[in-house]
Amino acid sequence: MPDNPNETCPCGSGKTYEACCRRYLQKGLQAPTAEALLRSRYTAYVRGDLDYLVDTDFHEVDKEATEAWMRSTRFYKLEILKIYKGKPLDRKGRIEFKAYFTENGEKRVHHELSDFEKHKGRWYYSGGLAAE
Ligand SMILES: [Zn+2]
Repeated sequence: MPDNPNETCPCGSGKTYEACCRRYLQKGLQAPTAEALLRSRYTAYVRGDLDYLVDTDFHEVDKEATEAWMRSTRFYKLEILKIYKGKPLDRKGRIEFKAYFTENGEKRVHHELSDFEKHKGRWYYSGGLAAE
């Protein structure tokens, strides 16, 4: 994907990419909240940035499987439904969201309750439960 800092951020925040997720994906800044991390991880899916997903996952990522899945999917909308904690002074956070994507051309929705934990001042994705 071309790197245009003035494009609207894929995460749906309404900000430009430059003012939103780019600083976490490309400038090495730490997401200050669980929400910022979730948004930037979503943007990493949109942009095919596997390294960022690996770096921000508390657990080991199956890179090959993730990469193959990213190749067959195209994310087009993130909807954040509920945010529990995950603020700069919290150590844990949980976010309910829906991510809309096409997989091999078919429209799908991923609805998840994601957990985030902060370790040594950095937020990590620590797991998720599929929600209905
Ligand atoms: Zn963003």
